[in-house]
Amino acid sequence: MDLRFSDEDEAFRQEVAQWLADNLVGEFAVLRGRGGPGDEHALIDERRAWLTFVIVGGGPTGVEYTGALAELLRLVLGRDFPDLAPGLARIVLVEGRDRLLGAFHPKLGQYAERILRDGGIEVRTSVLVEKATEELVVLSSGDEILGRTVVWSAGVRPEDPVRTPDAPRSRSRRLEVDGHLRLQGRSDVYVIGDAASVTHRGGELAMLAPPAMQEGRYVARSILDQVRGVPARGPFQYRDKGTMATIGRNAAVAQVGRVRFRGFPGWVVWLVVHICYLIGFRNRLAVLWSWGWDYLRRDRPIRLIIRSHGDPLADEFESGPSGPNDITKD
Ligand SMILES: Cc1cc2nc3c(=O)[nH]c(=O)nc-3n(C[C@H](O)[C@H](O)[C@H](O)COP(=O)(O)OP(=O)(O)OC[C@H]3O[C@@H](n4cnc5c(N)ncnc54)[C@H](O)[C@@H]3O)c2cc1C
Repeated sequence: MDLRFSDEDEAFRQEVAQWLADNLVGEFAVLRGRGGPGDEHALIDERRAWLTFVIVGGGPTGVEYTGALAELLRLVLGRDFPDLAPGLARIVLVEGRDRLLGAFHPKLGQYAERILRDGGIEVRTSVLVEKATEELVVLSSGDEILGRTVVWSAGVRPEDPVRTPDAPRSRSRRLEVDGHLRLQGRSDVYVIGDAASVTHRGGELAMLAPPAMQEGRYVARSILDQVRGVPARGPFQYRDKGTMATIGRNAAVAQVGRVRFRGFPGWVVWLVVHICYLIGFRNRLAVLWSWGWDYLRRDRPIRLIIRSHGDPLADEFESGPSGPNDITKD
């Protein structure tokens, strides 16, 4: 067998060798603490910072996200990345009020906090996030958290196509409406969903899908009434069908009127309601099967494969065999 390289092969070999030196060896140097022998502390600190997640806002979105993230790290991280000690991961949930799940009964908020704390999550209440940079989160208490991922779950501001400065707005910047969901002072402009500040039992309806859907149906019917020339219907009445939040495996809270569920019963209620609200029997069956499979396997089948930076060999492979750098040639 002739092992001599042609000039063309030699150039290609050198290119590959250079790429290996630049990339693989470079990656190992970074992972080993940028080349410094015995500099493992730098690597651990860097990993810790990348594995620190600060979630801002302890409402249903924040609590659900925190629980799901904790489960993902616990169930998947150690299995897929055994060299990353799961103990390095840190999740901090920051809430400005004195308890989680402010829209729920206090006992359900306390339950959620206990479950999250038992799962190793740091819950910080009565404290605000004041500043977040790429590497640091500063709290109103003065504490600083070294972390590179901040998840905002403290609410959003509605898109405001009206942009009329004198349109009255609530404290949450939503447009104030009358009992028929018309912009205050206007009979020809309706506002619904997240954009509308609708008063219900002395408070403002939350920015959630059920109020938005009920308001949408009400306004559609009101417009039809006008078109048909029938008398206007009575003011909008919100029908509260309950609120739920899942915290993790076998743990959820649900509140329907005065009835409250938590733990496993709350979780079952959460599952049943979400399955029932899906459209079509086939969808329901597919989701039920998928959830059941995940539940039994204690795994999440979703994985992300990402490429960190330019990779000439992969580019070559993607663009197909051609030219002198064809890696498939013998
Ligand atoms: C991360 C997250 C999680 C949530 N989880 C839940 C949950 O679990 N349960 C729940 O009940 N609610 C949840 N919500 C809230 C829920 O999604 C909203 O309350 C609901 O969608 C509000 O409905 P809407 O019709 O007012 O607004 P949207 O659903 O936001 O619809 C507004 C639409 O208008 C479009 N639009 C905006 N500006 C313009 C413009 N100038 N011209 C034309 N189109 C425009 C937008 O693209 C969008 O499609 C969640 C929200 C977020 C952000």
